[in-house]
Amino acid sequence: MEDSEMQIVDVRLSREDYIKQQIDYQAERGIDDPLAIVDIDEVVERYRKWHKLLPRVELFYALKCNDDDKIVDVLVRLGSSFDCASKDEIQQVLDLGVDPSRIIFANPFKQNSHLSYAKEHNVDLMTFDSEEELIKIKMMYGSARLILRFKPKQMYEAMYDLSKKFGCVLEEARRLFLLAKNKGLDVIGVSFHVGSNCLSADAFSTSIKEAREIFDIGIQLGFSMEILDIGGGYRGRDVDRPTIEENADIINHSLDKYFPTTDGVKIIAEPGRYLVESAVSAAAKIIGRKLVYDNDEHSIENVMYYINDGLYGSFSWAREVTETFIASTVNHNANAEKYSSIVWGPTCDSLDYLTTDVSLPLMEVGEWMYIKYTGAYAFCLSTNFNKMPRPKLYYFCSSCTWNLIADFTRADSSDDDCAKL
Ligand code: PLP
Repeated sequence: MEDSEMQIVDVRLSREDYIKQQIDYQAERGIDDPLAIVDIDEVVERYRKWHKLLPRVELFYALKCNDDDKIVDVLVRLGSSFDCASKDEIQQVLDLGVDPSRIIFANPFKQNSHLSYAKEHNVDLMTFDSEEELIKIKMMYGSARLILRFKPKQMYEAMYDLSKKFGCVLEEARRLFLLAKNKGLDVIGVSFHVGSNCLSADAFSTSIKEAREIFDIGIQLGFSMEILDIGGGYRGRDVDRPTIEENADIINHSLDKYFPTTDGVKIIAEPGRYLVESAVSAAAKIIGRKLVYDNDEHSIENVMYYINDGLYGSFSWAREVTETFIASTVNHNANAEKYSSIVWGPTCDSLDYLTTDVSLPLMEVGEWMYIKYTGAYAFCLSTNFNKMPRPKLYYFCSSCTWNLIADFTRADSSDDDCAKL
């Protein structure tokens, strides 16, 4: 990583101040494209917090959530392991020097050429949930170490329920274990995913309990069950519940009950959103505005803003963004009248909007909107539909954290190197 590409700052500014600074920086160069700032301190803090709260659970960052080179580079330097879904994701982390043993190919349905690539590069830990995948793996990579993914019986509310698409049920698990045994394949663990942005910490306790039952089937059938993978689903913003502290309490308790340390089972997880969602904030310029009046044309019914970033850029995840996410970069009087507002993205698609009803002060064309928490499933899903510019990313890191990251590569580094963290 070139230092020049990352702004190392002595004092950690607020996100709003970083954003304003970069808007001015762009304006001086005649640029008015959308932008986003990446707060590297936040990624490092959350990574360290995970290890403090969940000391038994090895973190395999889910690259699909945000594969930004610099974020991934920082995580590699910190010693993270990785959950990859495809050949190119595997290649990205291998190129950064990650040992193949620190990668899980956690896609239950793998393209043949991707599986061959994994084999060529000794990435042997992978998930499956079907007979066909077992047959494919037997033909192409018989020495792989397999993790059986099940779908939790009881699903709790989550933003993205993955159980419709992936995971076997308990009854299927026995059949899959038997087929694996027949084919001489090595199943070494089980995994589940409670759904992305899961709204209940109890989802982890019920799933860990169920994982124990499936584990025991594997053990009865003679497999050396070694790994429990508790997947992703942790929330990405401290303001949301369950917090990571609440999740950790329940997970640690369930692990102690169903997978005590004496069992020697390795516990891993695949968080994505948890690490990166709150590390990125976006800013988009108001390029147009329409005031919509009531029938008498006396008062404003709502305000439609057209901004230069949208559904196809930073906000593929965003539907009905609320006031807690969105603000102007200009200081409006706190008592200024607020209007029901619709915020449209820049393309000609009528689905390209961030919200159809948010209460905002009256903003002017040329002002910038600041939108928080855009680090998860945003840039990796963006396109340049209508050939709109994608946001330019600016990276910030405090010198304290930057030195800490550098120190992690030194053998004598200590966790207490940086008092701030
Ligand atoms: N692991 C797998 C297999 C996934 O499919 C996903 C997300 O889709 C994740 C981990 C990351 O989930 P989250 O970002 O909710 O932590």
